[in-house]
Amino acid sequence: MALIVQKYGGTSVGSIERIQAVAERVKRWRDQGDQVVVVVSAMSGETDRLIKLAKQLQERPEPRELDVLLSTGEQVTIALLSMALAAQGCPARSYTGAQVHILTDSAHNKARIRDIDAARVRADLEAGRVVVVAGFQGIDEQGDITTLGRGGSDTSAVAIAAALKANECQIYTDVDGVYTTDPRVEPKARKLDRITFEEMLEMASLGSKVLQIRSVEFAGKYRVPLRVLSSFGEGEGTLISFEDNDVEDAKISGIAFSRDEAKLTVLGVPDQPGVAHRILGPIAEANIEVDMIVQNVGADESTTDFTFTVHRNDYAPALDILKRTADELGARQVTGDASIVKISLVGVGMRSHAGIASRMFASLAKEGINIRMISTSEIKISVVVDEKYLELGVRTLHEAFGLDRPAA
Ligand code: ADP
Ligand code: ASP
Ligand code: MG
Repeated sequence: MALIVQKYGGTSVGSIERIQAVAERVKRWRDQGDQVVVVVSAMSGETDRLIKLAKQLQERPEPRELDVLLSTGEQVTIALLSMALAAQGCPARSYTGAQVHILTDSAHNKARIRDIDAARVRADLEAGRVVVVAGFQGIDEQGDITTLGRGGSDTSAVAIAAALKANECQIYTDVDGVYTTDPRVEPKARKLDRITFEEMLEMASLGSKVLQIRSVEFAGKYRVPLRVLSSFGEGEGTLISFEDNDVEDAKISGIAFSRDEAKLTVLGVPDQPGVAHRILGPIAEANIEVDMIVQNVGADESTTDFTFTVHRNDYAPALDILKRTADELGARQVTGDASIVKISLVGVGMRSHAGIASRMFASLAKEGINIRMISTSEIKISVVVDEKYLELGVRTLHEAFGLDRPAA
């Protein structure tokens, strides 16, 4: 007998029929003798609908109140799924995050899970029931409802799997696994049977929304066996593997991209010690995360140009702050661009292969795609390009690195 945690995303529970199909699948696992905990998202489109309602009242609603609102989406799904299971003769009980003590910090809208009290879940499983838990939500020490950020149900599932020491955490979604890149952008993308944990972590952090980054971090920390698979069909999906040598011997495993980027530049800053700190300090104080940073020597050598990228949602506040700092520093000008994207090549094989970067730049150049910024790490190379080149850039690189064919 195994203990399995299954998570079903929004599309997978998007209608009554879909919820019935999920119930059938869950029942199959239980009837074969496994203990099953199910984590669900809100029905597709529901979280967006709730955010829109809130924005009709306030442009920036109080994060605490937004969490009270957003958590209702998942609460609907747990109740409906438990009913669907009961209708099929499968005993089940639904729980909100608070009811199973998913304790988080108090960072509303992006809370982190600290602890889970799995006793109640265990008791139900022992009694032969399927346990249905609301994803994406928790409760803080004051008893206030919190949510975990978009895509957060993945993290709920992995955290519950870790707390229960489950045999596997299965993430059921609308694609049948992790692909070489988003199949919606490159139809020739190929499903991977396995991907290393390290690569999955990079893919998620560089924008592949198939798994929320924190769920991958959690899986790594607690060694949770994690699999991504389709709720619409059968198949083994993609296993996130902790063994480096267990996977295809490819130099590059995938291409991630992010549309949520914006870049800011301050031109003609006096080139003195402490300038980077003076520019980025106020940005950090405003809780804005900075991704790439580039500093150039300006034309006259006594000044410098400084560029960095932020999440597109933070563009307007970051620009305001930067303009103030630029005045204080006596900089010449501040510019910004919120129509850029980031495309990244990811692969553990990059470590031992030179020339990946030059091949990447050459293929983009051949298509006339101008690279605005570059950053690298051991297993990834990222470039910033204009938004209009996203699809072309991804497809060009997919082709150039032969990702549509399995590694020889
Ligand atoms: P869910 O609602 O089930 O959580 P998501 O929309 O969050 O589903 O994630 C699944 C989507 O992730 C897919 O429909 C696909 O478009 C997108 N995606 C992005 N990158 C990848 C990738 N490398 N492999 C598979 N899917 C990807
Ligand atoms: N419903 C939430 C969202 O749409 C959480 C999730 O689906 O993972 O982001
Ligand atoms: Mg998701």
